[in-house]
Amino acid sequence: MPDEAAAGRDFLRDIVAADLESGRTRAVVTRFPPEPNGYLHIGHAKAICINFGIAAEFGGRCNLRFDDTNPVKEEQEYIDAIERDVRWLGFDWGEHLHHASDYFAQLYDWAEHLIRTGHAYVDDLPAAEVQAMRGTLTEPGRESPYRNRSAEENLDLFRRMRAGEFPNGARTLRAKIDMAAGNINLRDPVLYRILHAAHPRTGTAWCIYPTYDFAHGQSDAIEGVTHSLCTLEFEDHRPLYDWLLDHLPVPSRPRQYETARLNIGYTVLSKRVLTELVRRGHVEGWDDPRMPTLAALRRRGVPPAAIRDFVRRTGVSRANSVVDIAMFDHAVREHLNRAAPRRMAVLRPLKLVIENYPEGQSEQLDAVNHPEDPAAGRRKIPFARELYVETDDFMENPPKKFYRLSPGREVRLRYAYLVTCREVVRNAAGEVVELRATYDPASRGGNAPDGRKVQATLHWVAAPQSVRAEVRLYGHLFARPDPGAGGDVFADLNPRSLETLADCRLEPSLADAVPGAAIQFERNGYFCADTTSRPDRLVFNRTIALRDGYAKAAG
Ligand code: ATP
Ligand code: MG
Repeated sequence: MPDEAAAGRDFLRDIVAADLESGRTRAVVTRFPPEPNGYLHIGHAKAICINFGIAAEFGGRCNLRFDDTNPVKEEQEYIDAIERDVRWLGFDWGEHLHHASDYFAQLYDWAEHLIRTGHAYVDDLPAAEVQAMRGTLTEPGRESPYRNRSAEENLDLFRRMRAGEFPNGARTLRAKIDMAAGNINLRDPVLYRILHAAHPRTGTAWCIYPTYDFAHGQSDAIEGVTHSLCTLEFEDHRPLYDWLLDHLPVPSRPRQYETARLNIGYTVLSKRVLTELVRRGHVEGWDDPRMPTLAALRRRGVPPAAIRDFVRRTGVSRANSVVDIAMFDHAVREHLNRAAPRRMAVLRPLKLVIENYPEGQSEQLDAVNHPEDPAAGRRKIPFARELYVETDDFMENPPKKFYRLSPGREVRLRYAYLVTCREVVRNAAGEVVELRATYDPASRGGNAPDGRKVQATLHWVAAPQSVRAEVRLYGHLFARPDPGAGGDVFADLNPRSLETLADCRLEPSLADAVPGAAIQFERNGYFCADTTSRPDRLVFNRTIALRDGYAKAAG
């Protein structure tokens, strides 16, 4: 297990420690139980870190269990993506890859057991009617007229449900608990429904499928899960979870504990909404770098260790809250600052011609790859008469504290020379299209022998040797910190969440950048090559801007 995931103490870890101490638990077994109906997001990352983290810290194990009980919404694509993303996040389930569908036969036998012991019945009421008769928080539910069938009749009907004799929705199997129970989940919950649909794993072997409530606790018991950790919305299901375990001959006795979900500002972590964003084409796909999915974060260049660290810092508690997205950004920057080699890239190029540098000449200058890490080594970067600098690094009439390029001003080109802006060239429309400058040949490397100071150090690239790239700058996908609070989450989409810069110029070494590998473009932020980047069409993603923004870093 990656160490950053190791957390201090929290209420779950206290419970596990106490259970081990008292002997109630001999070896900790947890599980991460995704439903394969979408891609994993950063909220799931929290559940993954908690489950795998606690198991590892206490010398136990964590199973990956697909909760694949609804074939209508589940797909192989999601199954594959989930396995890839859990591994990428840094966790390993070893031999313990399971599926609720592995237990369909056992679950079916247990359903018959409940029928035989008088604890379940086949109901002929349609779903809408079952729903309507459940009652409310203040009113008890009403009993179905089919509730008191004999065990023989129930067994016969249930077997015929399984044999495919009835159409979808014609009947359900319900637990016989208490229609007046204060907890609505105990009002004869549905355990099986008829669904004539092929399942990614069991094909057409089944046309009845267990509900989440019937599958989950029993799967935990089959796997010997000791601590079944889930989010707070399942708290009200816990009495049912326990009731089923109490009424079935299960091989072990798991216990369920709930924690708050992770919520993050400007971010939606509802699979329903994320699915719609993809379906409606608001984003390029599940791995669009603006999405909160792990696939998207990977494509955007976020290191898995930063996600683990962030999740750890959000803590484990039972109080719902919304985490400031700045906390996520901070974790990402912290990791990238340490890991990312530095390169020079000009995002909005403005040509700079060094008039006293000989035409056709070029030279290789020495640059460091990481200012705080000598082990990262050095590299050569080409210098030539024609360069590109950032358009924003020039102002014709600069305000007082602008120390970068302006007519007559001397600045340092990083790793190169001191240059002085001499002239501004305009096109017919009056826009600045080129700067003319002179350089001081004695300042090679960036310092003048006479010790004179300049206030600004700019990044640049040599025009002839630079490589062209498209660079994508991402903003928040949603324009408000609480998307959807106004009623329509799609109305809160940020129309400026993607800015594409089509003609950026990068130092030549960036032509070989590996997709996903972090790079700092000096003064511009952290970037990585996109998965769609090709040698003849380079595409980079901005992972995150530098801490203090562009202007301040520019000096
Ligand atoms: P849904 O059930 O609506 O499809 P889900 O996000 O609950 O969506 P699951 O695949 O059921 O998706 O989730 C797997 C596990 O991840 C569950 O244990 C769930 O509680 C946990 N989980 C999901 N979202 C979050 C979140 N935002 N924070 C923490 N844990 C989460
Ligand atoms: Mg769920």
